[in-house]
Amino acid sequence: MPRSGSEPKLRGHMEKVVIIGAGCAGWTAALYTARANLKPLVLTGKHPGGLLATTTVVENYPGFPEGVDGFELMKRMQKQAERFGARAKFATVEIADLSSEPFLLTADGETIQCETLIIASGAGHKHLGLPSEHLLENKGVTYCATCDGALPHFRNQPLVVVGGGDSACEEAMYLTRFGSVVYLVHRRDTLRASKIMAERALAHAKIKPIWDSAVTEILDVKQDKVTGVRVKNLKTEAEQIIPCGGVFVAIGHVPNTQIFRGMIDMDEIGYIIPRRGTATNVPGVFVAGDCADRVYRQAVTAAGLGCAAAIDAERYLAARNE
Ligand SMILES: Cc1cc2nc3c(=O)[nH]c(=O)nc-3n(C[C@H](O)[C@H](O)[C@H](O)COP(=O)(O)OP(=O)(O)OC[C@H]3O[C@@H](n4cnc5c(N)ncnc54)[C@H](O)[C@@H]3O)c2cc1C
Repeated sequence: MPRSGSEPKLRGHMEKVVIIGAGCAGWTAALYTARANLKPLVLTGKHPGGLLATTTVVENYPGFPEGVDGFELMKRMQKQAERFGARAKFATVEIADLSSEPFLLTADGETIQCETLIIASGAGHKHLGLPSEHLLENKGVTYCATCDGALPHFRNQPLVVVGGGDSACEEAMYLTRFGSVVYLVHRRDTLRASKIMAERALAHAKIKPIWDSAVTEILDVKQDKVTGVRVKNLKTEAEQIIPCGGVFVAIGHVPNTQIFRGMIDMDEIGYIIPRRGTATNVPGVFVAGDCADRVYRQAVTAAGLGCAAAIDAERYLAARNE
């Protein structure tokens, strides 16, 4: 049933459910829609398995008391969804036309039409942009204290958090449970975080702010692990080295939602704003996972939202076909 009363834009094969994204949210949505016999098509983008596939140990996903390798967990999620008929296509959506039904997606030059769409495109973290940061990622440089803070190699070590917003303060507070001291390196002389978060962080005995400063290098690439950071005071230009066992970069996230701008309601950063459950402002388009979650950003919450989006999409299709 076209929304605008127009004829379908293309003839030919019509997908019932297309899922953009092959992370925890996407594969969970695929599992549920596949078990509902909807044969979902999962467009993986450039990172099949999503963010979790880039990490080694996941210790907080329920059901794995010994922890599980992130790549292995994502492989299992894919296998489980495929067992019930989900299909994966290694393609990145460049254009989405959601102006009327069917929805049209252009992925690697091919046009795909679908009755319902689940957006599970995730969010990337902002990087400092240092070569040493890239080389030491997952070797002491991380972007998620909740995910990695409790790992053994961060315990009883001095740790560095880079950033000055709410996330940076939250990460620093969380890390005080594990680190011997937590240095909060910020470019300005006051925190950007909400007053209550900033006060709480600065009052903590283990948190030491390093004001007006930027990390210019993460040490030590030669040793292939984090041993410290080189920090430059932006006012005096003076440099110092702070020894540490881990660097937590908390300078923000960028949801992968640019292609939906102007069509799907989102906040100023780009996080999609659902209306009811996982429904968006466009009937038939649902959202799940980190691209709509500026608060929790965990594998289990993304998976939970993937399940919810699948159930919402299934009920939407059932209601249309009544
Ligand atoms: C290093 C690291 C360690 C982490 N460790 C943990 C942990 O231990 N525990 C935990 O709970 N959480 C952890 N997280 C967070 C967790 O990975 C995320 O919360 C989770 O991956 C979010 O899932 P998602 O499906 O919403 O998005 P993502 O995993 O980001 O997946 C997004 C998917 O969308 C695809 N995509 C994007 N744009 C397009 C497009 N235009 N077309 C097609 N596809 C597209 C991508 O290729 C990808 O497949 C960690 C994150 C990182 C970075």
